[in-house]
Amino acid sequence: MSILIKDVLLDDEEETDIYIEGNQIKKIGQSLDVVAEKTIDGKGKFAIPPFINGHTHSAMTLLRGYADDMPLMEWLSEKIWPLETKMTEEDIYWGAKLACLEMIRSGITVFNDMYWHFHGTSRAVEEMGIRALVSAVFIDFFDKTKANEQIELNERLFEETKSYSNRITFCLGPHSIYTVSEESLRWVKNFSNRNDVFIHIHISETQNELKECIKRYRLRPIEYLKRIGFLSDKIIACHCVWLDQEEMEILKNYNIQCVFNPISNMKLSSGKIFPYPRLIERGIGIILGTDGPSSNNSLNMFETMKIASLLIKHDTKDPTSLPAKEVFNLATNKAFGINTGIEEGNLADIVLLELNRPELTPSHNVISNIVYSGNPSCVSTVICDGKILMEDGYIEGEDEIMERAKEQALSLIRR
Ligand SMILES: [Zn+2]
Repeated sequence: MSILIKDVLLDDEEETDIYIEGNQIKKIGQSLDVVAEKTIDGKGKFAIPPFINGHTHSAMTLLRGYADDMPLMEWLSEKIWPLETKMTEEDIYWGAKLACLEMIRSGITVFNDMYWHFHGTSRAVEEMGIRALVSAVFIDFFDKTKANEQIELNERLFEETKSYSNRITFCLGPHSIYTVSEESLRWVKNFSNRNDVFIHIHISETQNELKECIKRYRLRPIEYLKRIGFLSDKIIACHCVWLDQEEMEILKNYNIQCVFNPISNMKLSSGKIFPYPRLIERGIGIILGTDGPSSNNSLNMFETMKIASLLIKHDTKDPTSLPAKEVFNLATNKAFGINTGIEEGNLADIVLLELNRPELTPSHNVISNIVYSGNPSCVSTVICDGKILMEDGYIEGEDEIMERAKEQALSLIRR
């Protein structure tokens, strides 16, 4: 399939054409002399690279609004974990489809997921046409039998992922240092090394996690992970709010990427603010994330960009910190080795924003408008891997997905 986007604005410059062939951006230029199977009128629209959601638990859409305003451990152990044990692959499938729907509407075509029933999520992503790093939640609660089950499961899932399209990437998902044993963490690291796969983990999210780690190992979380040989540049470290200077140096030395989830950190009262200026001055890679839709409670990257910027400005007492362009780049920079970005030769993942909207008028600075006053309603068309997933706000099958996800969520609560 070939697509020609005519007369679209790119980088605030003059109107340009973008020609897509297969799953690649073939040509960018003014008045391109090409014939395509499908032409999109880009007049009045602004083309941006897709947003990348660095951390979520997509099928938690089913638990959105089910248990809010609670402390993290109480929320997990009393509300979330008991229901998760009752979830079926069918629940996860519809929950993840709903999440993909919401993410497409928010201009996201890549997300990093950690949840139960791996194939439920993978099938949903496959059908919805976007990209994901999918990991099963690896939790052994320091129990040998559970650890062996998890290892077997992950070995099998790694092989089974090969039957999906290359929009789906297998990823390891050890939940955290307080739910996974040292032996299992070592196995995860070795498996990642042998097979070149990413490791998605929660690190230093709460003060309690830090205190327990110091009590148990006499080390801070990152120091502990370094001591057991767990660290590498394959780690996607989510949260990282309770860090000291020494730990930041370690993150830098291992070239570890951190995911900043401003909304969930504030909602769950993590008690500390992501040390953005100190990480960025060390050149540490930072990706933005929403976290799961029951600790956020949306999958909205516009909101995430704005709140990230406001939170850092508030923390540093400096309104010039994390400006619009910088936070926009954090949300759209290529990540996880996926070749996004609007350039010839890159993957054909493109989001078209409708500029003719009250909240984006007037247009003194398009990027400032997107970050500080934009929202998912401004997303008009989404293309991923050379296929149109949403056109002028229309997504095929949307009503059925919402209906089925609602039914699954209600039946889960009654089980
Ligand atoms: Zn999380």
